Amino acid sequence: MEPGILSETSIQFTMRDKLLPFSLPSIGDEEISDIVAALRSGWFTSGPRCREFEQRFARTVAAPAALALNSGTAALHVALATLGVGPGCAVITSAMTFCADMHVIEQLGARPILADVEPDTLNVNPLAVERAARTLRPGERLGAIMPVHLYGHPCERQDLLDIALRHGCALIEDAAHAFPSRCGGKTIGSAEASDDVPVLTAFSFYATKNLTTGEGGMLTGPTQWIDKARPWSLHGISRDVWNRDQGEPDPWFYEVTQPGFKYNMSDVQAAMGIAQLAKAPMFAERRAGIAAQYNEAFRQVDGLQLPTCRPDVEHAWHIYALRLNLEMLSISRSEFIAELRQNNIAASVHFIPIHLHRYFAEAYGYKPQDFPIAWREYQRLISLPIYPAMTVSDVQDVIDAVRKVFAKHRKPVRRHAAVEA
Ligand SMILES: *Cc1c(COP(=O)(O)O)cnc(C)c1O
Repeated sequence: MEPGILSETSIQFTMRDKLLPFSLPSIGDEEISDIVAALRSGWFTSGPRCREFEQRFARTVAAPAALALNSGTAALHVALATLGVGPGCAVITSAMTFCADMHVIEQLGARPILADVEPDTLNVNPLAVERAARTLRPGERLGAIMPVHLYGHPCERQDLLDIALRHGCALIEDAAHAFPSRCGGKTIGSAEASDDVPVLTAFSFYATKNLTTGEGGMLTGPTQWIDKARPWSLHGISRDVWNRDQGEPDPWFYEVTQPGFKYNMSDVQAAMGIAQLAKAPMFAERRAGIAAQYNEAFRQVDGLQLPTCRPDVEHAWHIYALRLNLEMLSISRSEFIAELRQNNIAASVHFIPIHLHRYFAEAYGYKPQDFPIAWREYQRLISLPIYPAMTVSDVQDVIDAVRKVFAKHRKPVRRHAAVEA
């Protein structure tokens, strides 16, 4: 046994007797009683609770306006449609994101263009976006740049705004992970558009997200764009059912004035969202606390790379993504995750880069090395559990298991490395 390794293997380790789930929502009596009240009210579809949720959410992220939807994907889809993205348009998005971004671009008949990521944050690299913007086909127009604030760490949105301005396109922020995040004193989702560059931000309230309504989403942005987006969420109808119920002269009358989807949120979901919103500061604090506990522990393990948090950033810590220095290990990332599971810790990977998925690879002819940073970093990523329901001792269990698995599979230390160098 190498002397340097002894300290790692001598860690006191008692295995949990029950699997620690990768994610758990924090639902309390408040959510339950507010949902029951919504059910008892007799109004289930989009109504007063949706309006209240929109107003409260907009205020929380300092947005001029907000539109409640039935998923984050719907928010992205509506945003693109509202901005007129369709056939003949290209949309630039990140190689390291969830497939939803790609699907909504395709569903509108636009062409997605992927851009590689920055090595530290894994957010889309503005230089790669600029390069991608110069690969338009003849007659094609750049409809939007669609970055993701990966893991809850804001992307370089000022640089991307500059690019959008130069190319005369919109910025649509995928903020599915980024509630609540701040960058340079600006809250993600607060964007006031200049006249030249419309900015819309899409949030997700999926079961695993920092705020959940089970399924749900929110689009925020300037009032004029949210007003344009609203009919897209409900069949292109000029007035929604709630407004029709408010004593207008012909309450039965409505007009379809444009194309549209069926993406509106229900008041039952909104009731849950309002209750969750009240707890958001507490949730955010707890997530940051868990991240700090992880960082403190993993900083001392030289084979682990901590997640980046750049200065002037408030991280939402939706995902805590550790990176393994694989050259120090005799096992792969997959084997690492499998062994964590044997120790009753569930872990995951965020994300499998877009271009590695079979469908996208076949449809666009992507090769793994087309986006080398996303491809390289993907192989060493591990997402650890991080959610407010975790106790300090749950977090310690994760730390102990990671250190144990790392120590067990660490390659022998090459003691003459310094001399050779
Ligand atoms: C969750 C997620 C979405 C989609 O949100 P849904 O509410 O599940 O539709 C989009 N982008 C990213 C990065 C996500 O993590």
